[in-house]
Parts: sequence; structure tokens; C-alpha cells
Amino acid sequence: MDRSAGKVILLVDMNAFFISCEMSVNPGLKGRPAAVAGDPKSRTGIILAANYEARAFGVKTAMLVHEALSLCPGLILIPPTRGLYEKKSKEFMEILARYTPVLQKNSIDEAWLDLTGCEKLFGEPVSIAQRIMREIQYELDLWCSIGISENKFLAKMASEMKKPLGITELWKKDVPVKMWPLEIRQMYGIGSRTEERLKKIGILTIGDLAHCDDGLLSEALGKYGRELKRLANGIDESPVEPEPKSVTRSISRSTTLVRDITDMDEARTVLLSLAEEVGEEARRSDFRGKSVQIVIRYNDFTTITRQKTITPSYLTRDIYRTGVELLGEHWDRRRPIRLLGIGISNIDDDIPVQLSIFDINEELPDRVKKEEKLERAIDSIRSRFGSDVVKRATLIDK
Ligand SMILES: [Mg+2]
Repeated sequence: MDRSAGKVILLVDMNAFFISCEMSVNPGLKGRPAAVAGDPKSRTGIILAANYEARAFGVKTAMLVHEALSLCPGLILIPPTRGLYEKKSKEFMEILARYTPVLQKNSIDEAWLDLTGCEKLFGEPVSIAQRIMREIQYELDLWCSIGISENKFLAKMASEMKKPLGITELWKKDVPVKMWPLEIRQMYGIGSRTEERLKKIGILTIGDLAHCDDGLLSEALGKYGRELKRLANGIDESPVEPEPKSVTRSISRSTTLVRDITDMDEARTVLLSLAEEVGEEARRSDFRGKSVQIVIRYNDFTTITRQKTITPSYLTRDIYRTGVELLGEHWDRRRPIRLLGIGISNIDDDIPVQLSIFDINEELPDRVKKEEKLERAIDSIRSRFGSDVVKRATLIDK
């Protein structure tokens, strides 16, 4: 196979991570059904991770403790050990860093590696994957699954195909046979809400999405729909990006409303659906926001953002409730809203309100477009030189 022009990307995903960490420090658990539970003593505690012995009884992540116990009465329940998973995650990342500095953590238990050009040094991708898997097993006493492809999306999809201890290649040429028959909810990046919307327009498999009519898709999901279609066709150009230290991180969603909103109940409904999407992504990437921001754009295009510090959270409820508080405090009720947004970020002090985390795509008057251009230019300066070099607020004031 000629891959000389193509990239080689691996996604390494730790299997049943929390409970496996517990088993590595408490070998007595090995071979017995066990799970980490949020609150093991309470019947309504939640299973956070079950080992494969417990999964054989049907115990699953997010199941209530009493449900899990009724399926598997001998199940050993363990509360989460503070600090253990972070420590193991760091050791895991250190092993990966032996192979390349081009390494991107996707969550506490998985990361992408760009190994393009590393074959000469370490051998074929599959043998590099075998080596990584062995080192993780012997040095950390943990299991992983590895996906190999030419881009991040396919590598992630591949890593899900065989668990535990699977090494799976999924190159673009394999997409029609290996990926298109999968149900749409098995596609990385599709949450339950998107799944529902896609099913409504008759898309049941990833193949259906790959072949879906652009107009129909845009109607159902906007720009995001086209992006998903590209992924379903195995196209993903996003690079593996090593995480820069202490950079503003945020997750946000905004929407231009079909008609201007003047009613609080209506505004709350919109905020809730956006907060659900933010929460979903935050939990998927294990990112707890230290503050919640909202953006309000009035029908004359003036835009305000307001934020509030919270106890770090990625729960939809916390995001939504804080958003509603902010809306109540800052919405000038005489003015109709044409766009609403909500997001979380890791900023936790009182940052000037000009610092917006929202990436708003909308047809704007030229004046606003200019402002956005300026903001984006400042963003890129900030990301290159650190946030103290350029004070966005002072620049905007000039
Ligand atoms: Mg994972």
C-alpha cells in the first residue's frame, strides 16, 4: 500500500479506564465483576465504569447502582479514588510521548498521535501500535484499544471497532465496507439530539449520511450537517494539535433565531437546548467549565456577553441555570433578541466582557464584520503570545 503522501494517525483509547486503574492498584479485583460508582452506598448512585467481568452481566456506564446490582448481585462497588486517574492518565501520555511530540489529548483516557514519517524510526503503524499497547500493559497494567488511519476521525472510529486490546486499521478506502453499514449513533461526534434529527430525515446509517442530499442536510442541521457528511465520507483535515499550556479553553453554542424573541420562556427554551449541546460536548471531552457565559445579540445587532464564575462543572443543569440567571440580570427586556448563545470556559476571574468565547457565524452588517475581524486578529495574537500581551479591551477602545 502506498501511503507515502498520506498521514498516519493513531488514536489510543484506554479500556474501562477508571475501573482498570483501580484493578491495577488492587489486584484482588482482577477476575471479579467490579465497577467504580459515584456513590456506591446509595441505590441511586451511578456506575461510572464497569470492568469486562461486570459488563458480561450487562452492567453499563451510567446505570443506577441498584439496577447494576440486580443484574449482577456479586458486583464489587468502589468509590472513585481522588487523583488516581489523573496520575495514570499522565503516565499514559508519557508513554505516548516517546513516539512523537505531535500528541493531542482528547479526554482523560485517550489521545491522538501523528506518526507521519515515523515508520523509518519505529516500523509500520501496526507494529508501533503493538509496541505502545505492550508498554501500556507492562508498565501501567492497563489495557487500551488503538485505531490507525490517515486522519483523526477515522482513527477514533477505528479504535471503537475492537475492544478491549484491539488494533484496528480504518483507511479511507475501507470506509464503504467497514464504516457505512454502522448505525448513525455509532458515529463519533453524534449525540442523541443529532441522531434524532438525522433519523427524522431518514438517515439511519453512516452510509445514509455519506450519500444524503446537501439541501436536506443543511435544512436539518445547518453548516454542521455538511461537516458531518464530510466525516461520514472519511474526510477530516483537522490536524493533531498538541495542547498549548494554559490557553483559554471554551465550548459554546449560539443560534440565530427564526424570529426575534421577546418572551422569557421562549428564551429559556432556546438556552436549554444550547446548554444541552454544550454540556454534551463538555462531558465528552471531560472539560469542566469554571465560568458560564451568555451572548445576547439584539435585533439592531448590538451584542453583549456576560459571564459568571461557577463551581467547575460540565453538567447541562449548571450551565443552563447560570445562563438563565445571567439572562434575567442582563437582558434589556424592551429589546428583542435575534441571537442567543451560551458557553463554558476555563476563565475563572473577572475578565472584561469584551472577551467573547463565541464564534458566531451570521450574515452581519459591514460594521459588525469589521469588529469581528478585529476580534479574530486579536484572538490569534493572544493565542501566539499569551493573553497578557494584548489586552483586547484596550485595543477595542482605541
Ligand atoms: Mg475514551
